Amino acid sequence: MKIGVLALQGDFREHLEMLGRIGVEGLPIRTVEEFARTDGLIIPGGESTTVGKLMARYGLDSAITGRALKEGFPIYGTCAGLILLAKRIVGSDQARLGLMDVTVERNAYGRQVDSFEAEINVPAIGDTPVQGVFIRAPVIREVSGSAEALARFEDHIVLARQGNLLAGSFHPELTDDDRVHRYFADIVSRTPKARA
Ligand code: GLN
Repeated sequence: MKIGVLALQGDFREHLEMLGRIGVEGLPIRTVEEFARTDGLIIPGGESTTVGKLMARYGLDSAITGRALKEGFPIYGTCAGLILLAKRIVGSDQARLGLMDVTVERNAYGRQVDSFEAEINVPAIGDTPVQGVFIRAPVIREVSGSAEALARFEDHIVLARQGNLLAGSFHPELTDDDRVHRYFADIVSRTPKARA
């Protein structure tokens, strides 16, 4: 099983390190050819407008949406990755994959609380909370269709799943807690292989 980490911009190294720690082969992905060798993909945090443009420039946007729609290809987006997976982004027409039936709001915690940490309960992965690291984080305002909320913080949804798609506001790759990555690796291992 190989999990790709989109390596166009952002904190992809930390995701690759986390995959190594849980014994999963991780591949940095910059081209359609590299993407074709993967069984799942992590889209890291970064700047969603930049990553959206670069994905389109390299043809990765249609390669990724094609496999997601055809094969149920598993994708986990953190932060900017969440924004790119969302169908709806409040007040923005930026390029996106638009695969998840969620509405996100960028930089939802505002300038004053640029970054913060908070304990987040994620019943799907265990009884003890994860340490949520939020960096200019988006939130999920609403889930619809088959998308479901897996975790909330204050009034917002901060982790959601829709079939094989997983997306969250916070950055588990910046902590020692590998449970969200294990949860995603489990989704990938259960998905029948149909490589492009
Ligand atoms: N604020 C960034 C954006 O809107 C996301 C921040 C992050 O990925 N840490 O793209």
